[in-house]
Amino acid sequence: MQTKIGWSRTRRDLFLKCPRAWFLRYGHQSKANSSKPAFSKRRPWDLMLRATKEILIERLEELREGKQWSNLLVEHQLKHCLQEHLHKSNCNVESRYFTALLRYSSHRMNLLWRCRIIQQLVSKQHACWYVLDRTDSVTHKNRQFYSSPDVAILIQKKWHLVRFDMQSAAKNLIDELEANAMVLWAKQKHGFPQRVLSYRLHTIGWRRGFWMTETYQPTLQTVKDSKRLLESDCRAMETMFEYGQFNLGFLPLATSRKTCHSCSYRTHCPASKGLARARQEQKLLELAHSSQSSKT
Ligand code: SF4
Repeated sequence: MQTKIGWSRTRRDLFLKCPRAWFLRYGHQSKANSSKPAFSKRRPWDLMLRATKEILIERLEELREGKQWSNLLVEHQLKHCLQEHLHKSNCNVESRYFTALLRYSSHRMNLLWRCRIIQQLVSKQHACWYVLDRTDSVTHKNRQFYSSPDVAILIQKKWHLVRFDMQSAAKNLIDELEANAMVLWAKQKHGFPQRVLSYRLHTIGWRRGFWMTETYQPTLQTVKDSKRLLESDCRAMETMFEYGQFNLGFLPLATSRKTCHSCSYRTHCPASKGLARARQEQKLLELAHSSQSSKT
């Protein structure tokens, strides 16, 4: 049976940073009989980002129905959501750390709410807009692409697709192609146009203490390139998946020690005793394996 590989920006990021961590988080999920990633334990910081995103989406959904939240309600919802995530992940944090996480979350939410696009929605400048479900994927050749925007707004006959990234990496040439993946998603959904020039793309991401907005005009070429990027990522993930099933020990480790520091699989990883040492051991393991298979 062929493996159904899913593409999303989060998956891609992790895959590039550490194929082993990617396999443990998403590769295991690809198995038909396994619904939970192995040894999965998220960091409190990641849970804070997730909680902030969840409350942002909830707040936008309520805004769409004409309800505006008070600052007190925002605080309450963030607190409740963060507590719930920590509890579900069995993650105990000191109350001082919890307060600090909550402060970060509320700071980011307050600044984000002041962004031009959101303020246009608050002041009801656009009559037609939707909050979309980022877990809604489209299928292409047995692969699932999770590239839905968070919000779609119709402005002067153009669909503006908006994605919020709670923690963006440094600017990269590939950002535009990743943003174009939103068009691939929209074109497969009922009600959205097929013409790529009918879209405009916005990514709003937290970078170095600010919410930065990037805007792109998709073209036939950029959408085509984006599709190529997603397909080539999926092919690489499929190969890695086969590799991981054969022997987890042979999967490439993180490209940087920094990734290991924040990794939730660290305690069960050979890199827990140091990435350089784990890489050496892996090389020896591969050598031993190849000399053994050449004898047989
Ligand atoms: S500890 Fe490092 S090498 Fe091991 S899975 Fe995590 S990121 Fe990868």
